[in-house]
Amino acid sequence: MDTMKIHEALRWASLFLQKHNREERVGEILLLHHLGMSKVEFLSSLREQVPQVKLKAFCADVRRHAETGVPVQHLTGVESFYGRTFHVNGDVLIPRPETEELIVGVLEYVEKIDWHGQKTHQLVDVGTGSGIIAITLKLERQASLDVSACDISDDALAVATANALALGAQVDFLQGNFLKPLLDKGKKVDIIASNPPYIPYAEKATLSDTVKNYDPALALYAEDDGLAAYKKIIAQAVDVLRVPGLIAFEIGHEQGNAVREIILQSFPHSNVEVRKDINGKDRMVFAVIDSR
Ligand code: GLN
Repeated sequence: MDTMKIHEALRWASLFLQKHNREERVGEILLLHHLGMSKVEFLSSLREQVPQVKLKAFCADVRRHAETGVPVQHLTGVESFYGRTFHVNGDVLIPRPETEELIVGVLEYVEKIDWHGQKTHQLVDVGTGSGIIAITLKLERQASLDVSACDISDDALAVATANALALGAQVDFLQGNFLKPLLDKGKKVDIIASNPPYIPYAEKATLSDTVKNYDPALALYAEDDGLAAYKKIIAQAVDVLRVPGLIAFEIGHEQGNAVREIILQSFPHSNVEVRKDINGKDRMVFAVIDSR
């Protein structure tokens, strides 16, 4: 395997990945990454030689992914979310497409809620991880959203801060457990958005090695059948959320009713929608609180 043309390297990767029951398209992602090429440059260079150093590094990454399940995003260091590129590493959850639908829902609700004339809204992203929710919402609604984001992990906050800087998003990052940083400051908000850890520990065995061994456990699992984070956030939200207000959660596909009940217990006058994702699974909960 001393020399290979680009199309040969791609073919080799496809077969190797297939043999290890991994997705074939990972080969192209890694090859583009190592060649430093756009897809268009790549397509017009298929019959050129892959430079040796790059070929070696590419093959090593394909092997590592195939054999260990290390996520391709940890090898390239990036994942795209809502049309933008975010840096990721093992300290943060890799952004998921389901969470893009949460963004769509929040933007929709911000438009349709009767804010009684109020033009700018304060939003907090709880458990921001790589910062995708906070940063994306800020960039989508520069003028009308004032955004802060909490995370208990300093390492995650380092990733989120770097992403905000790289993408030019003004977000106030705060370290602490769920909404605690806001409670400590006596700060109130109009919108709480979160994709908290929601996988029950009992389901750990059913996850792929790529998720189980590489996404941070702190970002994945929660006690209480996966509901502990919702309970904690809602309990704190009573002292943080203004009226009118919005709570937007990503949820596990079997948690819709439970999360609705948790919200209604603390906010009995809220209007709660459980919404399905593109795969037809319950994935989001939106609660509009009009009065206490
Ligand atoms: N908010 C981040 C995301 O949606 C991190 C979520 C998490 O770590 N549970 O990807």
